[in-house]
Amino acid sequence: MATTEFSRRQLLKAAALAAAGAAPAAGALPAAAATPRWQNWSGSQSANPRWQLHPESLAELREALAVAPTPIRPVGAGHSFSPLCPTAGTLVDIGALRGLVSYNEERLRARVRAGTPIRDLGPMFNEIGQALPNQGDVDPQTVAGACGTSTHGTGRTLGSFSSLVTAAQLLTPQGDMLEISENENAEWLPAVACNLGVLGLLTEIELQNREPYRLEEVLGTAPLRETLANFAALSRDARHFEVFIFPYSDTLLTKTLRETTERPTPEPEFSVPDSEIFAALTRLGHGVAPLDGPLQKALTALYPSSRRVGDSWRIFPSDREQTRFNEMEYELPFARGIECLAELLTAIRKADLNLMFPLEVRSVAADTAWISPFYRQDSLSISVHQWVGADHRPLFALAEPILRRHGGRPHWGKMHTLRAADFAALYPRWEDFSRLRRELDPAGRMLSPPLREMLV
Ligand SMILES: Cc1cc2nc3c(=O)[nH]c(=O)nc-3n(C[C@H](O)[C@H](O)[C@H](O)COP(=O)(O)OP(=O)(O)OC[C@H]3O[C@@H](n4cnc5c(N)ncnc54)[C@H](O)[C@@H]3O)c2cc1C
Repeated sequence: MATTEFSRRQLLKAAALAAAGAAPAAGALPAAAATPRWQNWSGSQSANPRWQLHPESLAELREALAVAPTPIRPVGAGHSFSPLCPTAGTLVDIGALRGLVSYNEERLRARVRAGTPIRDLGPMFNEIGQALPNQGDVDPQTVAGACGTSTHGTGRTLGSFSSLVTAAQLLTPQGDMLEISENENAEWLPAVACNLGVLGLLTEIELQNREPYRLEEVLGTAPLRETLANFAALSRDARHFEVFIFPYSDTLLTKTLRETTERPTPEPEFSVPDSEIFAALTRLGHGVAPLDGPLQKALTALYPSSRRVGDSWRIFPSDREQTRFNEMEYELPFARGIECLAELLTAIRKADLNLMFPLEVRSVAADTAWISPFYRQDSLSISVHQWVGADHRPLFALAEPILRRHGGRPHWGKMHTLRAADFAALYPRWEDFSRLRRELDPAGRMLSPPLREMLV
């Protein structure tokens, strides 16, 4: 990712020029700032913002935002597939604002700077006798980014990151620094807990943790039909249960995590689908299209089962770097999820789409964040992925109407085609969120064209 660091001196100079009504003169900012390039993880989103900020202090952030070209868009680790971050105005990366701020031993809460990557939280929280209750598939995302889109893992009783937010510090587009917690501006907590970066810049976030724990991970295979028929029971029986479904195979992959007090085991040597072998098979399956079905069958037949035990934060994340993809994900009312999944699998087989990535199916507990896809809804989460080397549009165009017909709400960080009117129908508190957004950002300084379509 191309980055252009603005020094404090350069920012102040630009700020002074802007305040005086003048455009920054040539040389006021680094030459490369004119054409900085930003891309998200999959390369599906890119931007050439006029300003790309990497503030190192709150004061610096505040001064720069007052004069920054709009739209102003915060960015975390760039792991969202949807157009939440791109802007022609100002891209603000608060990655330098990271680390532990404070913690409460009794209530098991910890306050961190919003740019802290999730992968730093495991060891950091362990030191203070705390741990995240759950995590998603990978851990490079920032805490602000994860709360921004209700990032989640799997677990019938476990909510998304939005469900963990107990307080936050927000720099509004108008330059006010607000504390939002049980004691101050408490009514806005359900809005900041899932906020898409449109209410302002989050600078600190407090999370509800639990005591540290170990997990036993068991990876294996199981028959497709029976496993889906028993999905509700299987996901009730284990703390975390999820399946990966290669659509042209009748065998699926299972991942089950249970809490344990056993000693940690050594790491297994082989893991699918993140390995180099999977990367090579993906290329083969796309290079010679009729091979994707047989390859999926072979992969699931030969998949080695494995077991390991370790600290929760070591067990949760997988490595997804080898074979990049684009993704669509919808959160279905739990009771309707399996029926929807069956219809989707039938449709993919019928369309005979060239595809090497599995569907991922998880469960997520309801939360109360106003625009969280899990708002007051225990959910079954269905993700479809397409390799970055292939056109994702045929698969996503096939999947989305089915996912919507069964009452699904899209993951904010993944691809979808929904607009403001669609969301207004999906979220009972949509208007409350919109009213607060207008109050905090009356001039729409944080709205890029795609966000305008989604929110206004
Ligand atoms: C390989 C991969 C695996 C993934 N696995 C999962 C998974 O298991 N579960 C899941 O739910 N999702 C998953 N995702 C999606 C990802 O977790 C979300 O899109 C998440 O929001 C990305 O976090 P980020 O730090 O990259 O934020 P970005 O994508 O950079 O930004 C996300 C949102 O947060 C806002 N934001 C960022 N910083 C701030 C700030 N300081 N203040 C206010 N707003 C801010 C942005 O404006 C944007 O709206 C995955 C994505 C990838 C690429």
